Amino acid sequence: MTTAIAGVVSLAATGSATFAAGIAVGGFLIDVDHIVDYVTVERQRALGPAAFLRHYTEGRTRRLVLALHSYELFALLALLAWWLESAALAGYLAGGAMHLGLDIVFNGRLTPKNIFAFYSFGYRLRHRFDAGALFGSEPLLAPGGFWRSFFLGPRRALAASTVEDSYRIASAPR
Ligand SMILES: [Zn+2]
Repeated sequence: MTTAIAGVVSLAATGSATFAAGIAVGGFLIDVDHIVDYVTVERQRALGPAAFLRHYTEGRTRRLVLALHSYELFALLALLAWWLESAALAGYLAGGAMHLGLDIVFNGRLTPKNIFAFYSFGYRLRHRFDAGALFGSEPLLAPGGFWRSFFLGPRRALAASTVEDSYRIASAPR
């Protein structure tokens, strides 16, 4: 949604369809690395969108390579964009930076680990892409239903159960 808005606004402001297309790719298609991980690293064969979403929202991921979600790649592409004076690549970086910012905000709520370090490829490599070491192995609760799950995403099961349990304990009849 934010990508679509950013694309339309930039098209209106700059009149550059190339830059706007770059934003769309950087903001939205950057997540294809999740699909690449899912098939190659996680070796999952259930290719339906529901199975794919469940795998992530329920925190069943074992390895997180996520090549495109990397500061290092962004820096490299920024150099290339400057070198080639490429509007498409500059758009990709703008869309991708927005995407990464939102990922940091929303995924940061799901992990007790350092979310800023997480988006460094070198940092993930040093931890052998191990999901438990990088993101924590705390169970996640996915809301029921595909669209609820898609838009709301999971929440931390422990944090949730702690609040609910303490409420239950506090309100239990004595
Ligand atoms: Zn992402």
